[in-house]
Amino acid sequence: MIKLHDKYFEPFLSEEEIKRAVTKIAGEIAADYKDEVPIFVGVLNGAFMFVSDLMKAYPHPCEVTFVKLSSYQGLTSTGIVETLLDVSEDIKGRSVIILEDIIDTGRTLQQLVHLFSDTNVKEFKIASLFYKAEIYNGEYPIHYVGLEIPSKFIVGYGLDYNEHGRNLNEVYQIKQTNMINLVLFGKPGAGKGTQAGFLKEKYNLKHISTGDVFRYNIKNGTELGTLAKSYMDKGDLVPDEVTIKMLQDEVEKNPEAAGFIFDGFPRTTAQAEALDNFLDSKDMKIDATIALEADDEILIQRLLERGKESGRSDDQDEDKIRNRFEEYNQKTAPLKDYYEKQGKFHAVNGIGDIAEITARLSKVIDDLS
Ligand code: AMP
Repeated sequence: MIKLHDKYFEPFLSEEEIKRAVTKIAGEIAADYKDEVPIFVGVLNGAFMFVSDLMKAYPHPCEVTFVKLSSYQGLTSTGIVETLLDVSEDIKGRSVIILEDIIDTGRTLQQLVHLFSDTNVKEFKIASLFYKAEIYNGEYPIHYVGLEIPSKFIVGYGLDYNEHGRNLNEVYQIKQTNMINLVLFGKPGAGKGTQAGFLKEKYNLKHISTGDVFRYNIKNGTELGTLAKSYMDKGDLVPDEVTIKMLQDEVEKNPEAAGFIFDGFPRTTAQAEALDNFLDSKDMKIDATIALEADDEILIQRLLERGKESGRSDDQDEDKIRNRFEEYNQKTAPLKDYYEKQGKFHAVNGIGDIAEITARLSKVIDDLS
């Protein structure tokens, strides 16, 4: 086992296994391109080792160049990917083979396809050393695959965890220790966000608030934000397919998290089922759903107060608040049954001193282990 920054990793693929995957791709490309000189385009930084070894294993004439993309850092689900080093000019009429170290959600791939669709190459194909079939959205064909791997976070052979680990000769997989995943449940104004803020510090968890992610997207004028705003302004729920996809992206973006607090998700049975299936595919699960309970009239007062301070329009109008409660009663309340059937539902009194409520929640969490 090795340690990079604050995380532990265990051996996953040996040098020999990696070499076999690289040689396999080189052989397949060589068979297809023996009569012309392809240009390999490595995607920096992760693919540099793969590109180097693939070139060494490639038996015919070939050329190489690089592009560099960077995933936008921060709270976004739109998959904004920036181009840092663009395609070189002299690829006109040529056959291009894009070399990626790993394909998971397909977000970077989408940007690459976009980038090369705008050029006048003869054709372009995608080769990826590693491929996480379980989470790839399947939008574009991947022509050459070295190895299919499970959707766990990996480092080594060019791949990094916060820039460390790229120099490892083997590939390592993250070692997950006692993950805790919580759903904070309750009506708008119940104090989910406030309590999540304390719990995430205490238990070292990643807090995902779907409401916050939507608001972030609205503030930044993204496509997702524009879509969500039309629903949020009325106090309606944003459609499941949009919200589920967004939530999955947020989890994917934090492969090193010691656990998650889901705040404001799931809000429908379809979302709860999607969450269970998704977590299952990653060898994860919900440990507890904790409901913060409070009386409607108290919540309305809290929300109106909050609306004055934050300027949130859906908190300032009593009709919108009542509509959100209505959405909750119809669509979200049935989730109590859903989690009770799994033996995971815990109710906590959400009225009282903030610290006192944190203590009640902590007791539920501490009793889990
Ligand atoms: P919140 O900040 O959790 O109160 O969420 C504010 C608004 O964002 C809600 O009224 C919905 O319009 C939208 N929203 C947040 N989470 C979800 C979700 N899980 N499903 C659908 N809509 C959501």
